[in-house]
Amino acid sequence: MQWPNELPNFCTNGVLNGEAIFITEASLFHPVKAKPTERKICLLTAHSVFIPEGKSNHMSETTITFAGSGDTLGSGGRLQTCIHTDADSTQFLLDCGASSLPALKRHEIDLNAIDAILLTHLHGDHFGGIPFFVLDAQLVSKRTDPLIIAGPPGTEKRVRAAMDVMFPGLSEVNQEFEISYVELEDREETMVGSLRVTPYRVVHPSGAPPYALRVVVDDSSIAYSGDTEWTDALVDAARGTDVFICEAYFFDREVPYHISYDTLHSHYAELECDRTIITHMSEEMLSRLPDIELEHADDGKQITI
Ligand SMILES: [Zn+2]
Ligand SMILES: [Zn+2]
Repeated sequence: MQWPNELPNFCTNGVLNGEAIFITEASLFHPVKAKPTERKICLLTAHSVFIPEGKSNHMSETTITFAGSGDTLGSGGRLQTCIHTDADSTQFLLDCGASSLPALKRHEIDLNAIDAILLTHLHGDHFGGIPFFVLDAQLVSKRTDPLIIAGPPGTEKRVRAAMDVMFPGLSEVNQEFEISYVELEDREETMVGSLRVTPYRVVHPSGAPPYALRVVVDDSSIAYSGDTEWTDALVDAARGTDVFICEAYFFDREVPYHISYDTLHSHYAELECDRTIITHMSEEMLSRLPDIELEHADDGKQITI
């Protein structure tokens, strides 16, 4: 691109001569040479946008709703993990804890618009909602579109077993919609519908490999820790993402297989992401929310990236 010598007077994002325009500060962009002290306003056309390394330039909007932000044991009366993402091309869930169906209905989320459920690990507060979701799809929502369930190796067997323990025969019902299973391998990027999903092995015994997940949807990227104690795999999962959602179970008490807020905070500088939000908090952690610097999730919290 030839950099214009004369910049127009200030104008807002919009359309100029039939082309989309973006106004930005030159000092944020590489390789535009602007001294940080001269934070010039520059105009870029849709055909000449520079994307700084490690950052995305969003052409679409993705909305994340924390339908459930709770821990395993209902601390603070919060519902179990269920993170709904609504992007231009698809909708999906990150984990589907046992209370997910009422959580999703509380927020009037269209269940039939959810194309995929991505599972970090196979604990009931992260996948126990699937039998209810499937039963509702069959009896109430009258789903016809396929549903993809993706998770660690063993996901299909455990999900089918959970269905049959709760509602005997459910896994064998000939539904009006197809359920397909995708089992993810550590650090292998896999297409799940239109999602690019990369799992990172973490530390949280749950009968199958536990993962943090990094998901690219349209031009947005989300990382989610699942449950784990601190591991450098989280740095890899979060790198370059728009938002990193991370569990913080206790404030400063260290227990195996979970992260304390203190530990996460001590590694905060290593996280190369735009935003970090903590979730999956115990009563003790919830009581310390007034003391923390990092952003936290609540049931119903909605963000746009
Ligand atoms: Zn959990
Ligand atoms: Zn767990």
